[in-house]
Amino acid sequence: MSDKTTKLHSREDVHENGTNQPLPILPIKRSKLISTDSPLQTRAASPLILNPPIDNDGLSWPSQGARSRIEQSPEEAKEREERIANAVKVVLSELGEDINREGLLETPERYARAMLYFTKGYEDNIRNVIKNAVFEEDHDEMVIVRDIEIYSLCEHHLVPFFGKCHIGYIPNKRVLGLSKLARLAEMYSRRFQVQERLTKQIAVALSEILKPRGVAVVIEAQHMCMVSRGVQKTGSSTTTSCMLGCFRDHQKTREEFLTLLGRK
Ligand SMILES: [Zn+2]
Repeated sequence: MSDKTTKLHSREDVHENGTNQPLPILPIKRSKLISTDSPLQTRAASPLILNPPIDNDGLSWPSQGARSRIEQSPEEAKEREERIANAVKVVLSELGEDINREGLLETPERYARAMLYFTKGYEDNIRNVIKNAVFEEDHDEMVIVRDIEIYSLCEHHLVPFFGKCHIGYIPNKRVLGLSKLARLAEMYSRRFQVQERLTKQIAVALSEILKPRGVAVVIEAQHMCMVSRGVQKTGSSTTTSCMLGCFRDHQKTREEFLTLLGRK
């Protein structure tokens, strides 16, 4: 236990006291200040953006460890794969398997590659996903993309959950290329997730990117941890939703969205 703690603190990316120091504030003309006694460089205080999905260096939340994956050399990638594979060998033999039997010989490496693929969303960031796909457009009607397939991993059991994601928004002079909505869902789902957070991250990200009049995200998914163990409720699905802006404020807008989804 104490070993782990020591290791964490000696990592070079964890800085000592220095990190808590406020950043130097550049001189700003007094006329530009909205309020002289509010701290500068802070974001608007909304509980939805306490963990902003767009961070300063373009790596999108959650980014711990993401940078080392993005910036690794091919050799480092190989070493990472080997470390995962070795860990999988331990798991397999602890489960009572013979890791030397023919059928399992390549399994640890295969599993390592599969897991890296299932979590490839950590190597993606919003700027790459969005690229040049935000357009000025005088459209203010609801935009909906239905039935986006999502495959994610439950962070509590490390088993898949998968289903459909529906995204709607009402633009405010800016629209996003339609395929990017699916890319956004893909980026956040290819990580360890809980369905509630996944839903919210997609909604908040879209809201931050487009500043639309409202955003609605609904996800319906089946969780392997639910359907294949414990209660064994095969066929049960979980629905989560996140409504922002006018979808949250206006029941009519929300209803229109749900009607268009065929859910009402
Ligand atoms: Zn689970």
